[in-house]
Amino acid sequence: ELYNKILELKGNIRVFCRCRPLNFKEIEAGVSMGIDVESAKNGEVMVMSNGFPKKSFKFDSVFGPNASQADVFEDTAPFATSVIDGYNVCIFAYGQTGTGKTFTMEGTQHDRGVNYRTLENLFKITKERENRYNYEISVSVLEVYNEQIRDLLVPASQSASAPKRFEIRQVSEGNHHVPGLVEAPVKSLDEVWDVLKTGSNARAVGKTAANEHSSRSHCIHCVMVKGENLLNGECTKSKLWLVDLAGSERVAKTEVQGERLKETQSINKSLSALGDVIFALANKSSHIPFRNSKLTHLLQDSLGGDSKTLMFVQISPNENDQSETLCSLNFASRVR
Ligand code: ADP
Ligand code: MG
Repeated sequence: ELYNKILELKGNIRVFCRCRPLNFKEIEAGVSMGIDVESAKNGEVMVMSNGFPKKSFKFDSVFGPNASQADVFEDTAPFATSVIDGYNVCIFAYGQTGTGKTFTMEGTQHDRGVNYRTLENLFKITKERENRYNYEISVSVLEVYNEQIRDLLVPASQSASAPKRFEIRQVSEGNHHVPGLVEAPVKSLDEVWDVLKTGSNARAVGKTAANEHSSRSHCIHCVMVKGENLLNGECTKSKLWLVDLAGSERVAKTEVQGERLKETQSINKSLSALGDVIFALANKSSHIPFRNSKLTHLLQDSLGGDSKTLMFVQISPNENDQSETLCSLNFASRVR
């Protein structure tokens, strides 16, 4: 309750910045740190050049290389409550490939990320309220690749034999739906986690370079929550979207041709459409260009209005990555 008020005061769009640690290879190679978050003030990230401060950016929260998954989740947790309270919530990870988008969202088996922790909270809260509310939870897992939607809960063998073309339909005002997409009902945290894993694993099937593919597509988990107040019969319906976006790195036009060029164009189109939509919402613009990409069209009901949006902008501390880092930070400051 209180937290929702705070979110309201600050607007419904928040941007968190997270900088990954230098990895072993980088340390061995002795690369320079291009980022300083520790000496910077709260909520500030300083881009460094040859050891000197170059440009600073402010965000709602900034997490440095030493921040744990638990530290990050401390600031993310209120979004789970919002979902149960009936708000639509979108959590995105944006950034160059290799900066920790998947680490923040999915995490690892022993160091679980925002997705798992949010769902854990979601089930914890529904349990606490079970005397007063009945909740039904279901999940869809999909990917958007080359502006096409693929259902990751349909076994690859099946979807390969009968490739389905998914369309986004408006059912009623503020209610978009993708007919034919699997919505798996789940009763417990373990169940939902299994479904999400099935979905993520499906991304890899048939791909020679799973990582390569995952950096070129948006991976989207949608958790649908239907709540019924057992005292007065009032119903709520909300969606939690967990989105691991395609890598935002720019690819030199001269380097790409054919299929790769199409991929690159699709990614650029959808990421800039997302930026445009969030920017328009943040500026209370009268026209919000949802229709410019599959991604924004799909998320239309959950962006704007009283929905809550959280964008993680993921960055690399390596000074050699600085031009991409600056692009990501500029993108994120624009939407803030
Ligand atoms: P992306 O999804 O953006 O391409 P990944 O999440 O795959 O990036 O991260 C790249 C590598 O860096 C992975 O091995 C990941 O485990 C590691 N990594 C990323 N962020 C962190 C972090 N905050 N702490 C420790 N390791 C991290
Ligand atoms: Mg990834």
